[in-house]
Amino acid sequence: MSRLSVFETVLVQFDKAADLMELDPEIRKILSHTTNEIVVNFPVVMDNGCVRMFTGYRVQHNNVLGPYKGGLRFHPQVDLDEVRALAAWMTWKTALAGIPYGGAKGGIDVRPWELSPRELERVTRRFTFALGSNIGPEYDIPAPDMNTNPQIMAWILDTYLQMMPPMERNRAVHVVTGKPVESGGSVGRNKATGQGLVFVLEAWAKDHGFELQGATYIIQGFGNVGSWAARLLKPLGAILVGVEDHSGALVNPEGIDPDDMAAWVEREGRIQGYAKAEPVDHETFFGTQADFFIPAALEEQITAETAPLLKVGVVIEGANGPTDVDGDRIMLEKGIHVLPDVLANAGGVIVSYFEWLQNKRSEFWDLDEVDARLHRQIVGAYCSVRDIAKEYQTDWRTAAYIVALRRLEQTYKKRGIFP
Ligand code: GLU
Repeated sequence: MSRLSVFETVLVQFDKAADLMELDPEIRKILSHTTNEIVVNFPVVMDNGCVRMFTGYRVQHNNVLGPYKGGLRFHPQVDLDEVRALAAWMTWKTALAGIPYGGAKGGIDVRPWELSPRELERVTRRFTFALGSNIGPEYDIPAPDMNTNPQIMAWILDTYLQMMPPMERNRAVHVVTGKPVESGGSVGRNKATGQGLVFVLEAWAKDHGFELQGATYIIQGFGNVGSWAARLLKPLGAILVGVEDHSGALVNPEGIDPDDMAAWVEREGRIQGYAKAEPVDHETFFGTQADFFIPAALEEQITAETAPLLKVGVVIEGANGPTDVDGDRIMLEKGIHVLPDVLANAGGVIVSYFEWLQNKRSEFWDLDEVDARLHRQIVGAYCSVRDIAKEYQTDWRTAAYIVALRRLEQTYKKRGIFP
């Protein structure tokens, strides 16, 4: 079986939706390509005094609906193909969410856990400098993603502002989102992806007469998305019975306390060693009996090897692209319902948009306002996907693509193709 690259997987998903909705063939050509692909090699002086070269990427997929938008990922798996895929998913995600952005993604091929804090700062600043005017508050707006966080966004902001004339600096604070609240960030941004996922799951549960109280679930990845989703599901009465991350997997049919686990991961950097659950292997974790599964780690986790093992009824994708083409087919055959990534994890970029608006207007919204607006926006997207899935008699991933592609198509049709 030949494995598709991650970007090829995006194109398979795209083609399925484009065929079904009969997307205009000319617009189809445009959207199956990225617009700009920036690769920068840059030197950083390490703590031992030696220079090390790093490679960073920023891929801008499409900006017909607004400025390019999407996170930066620091991970050794980062390469051009992965970043292309992640950028395209951002185009669909922002279009589906109904926010005025295009799609982009970037990152550095690095093992951030091997860097000292000072090295991490220098790598971040030098990468920002290398990107130069390829990012900008009305042009391309980065945000956190895997292994990046508000502190890293603050360094990006500070470096970007140093490159601007002093009188323009206060006008450019929205060059990056996911900043610390003290540096122009929004309350509610840190938990936003997990919060959005829970709002989508609640809406789905209500429509399907599914009781979250007492429902069991497993999570892969206990970073920002996984840990927040679990912590927010706790007051709703759902029971976490299994967790996996890069260090291994743990199960406990009696339940794992998400706050306790989050405190452990905060301290130790991994789930391994947590004593109140049983270590199990990867296959056993995937075969855990539960009501739902939240993949919240890397791409291509639900595959021809792992999908047959799943014993859950619903998958809510916190990660971007956790399911490959085989995984999707097998879950469809098994009758597992999939709430796709571009819908389920859109809460992060939606609250990024709120942060960007607050910065532009010099406003400061409170948490109730942020949460209420997030709820309205993401449940609106949920309803569009649900209705299109019904209309086209298709799976929810394809339906999510159709909603997004219709919006992009309409915009192109009005504007035309230059010249
Ligand atoms: N990295 C997040 C995502 O994949 C958030 C992007 C953003 O806030 O711009 O959706």
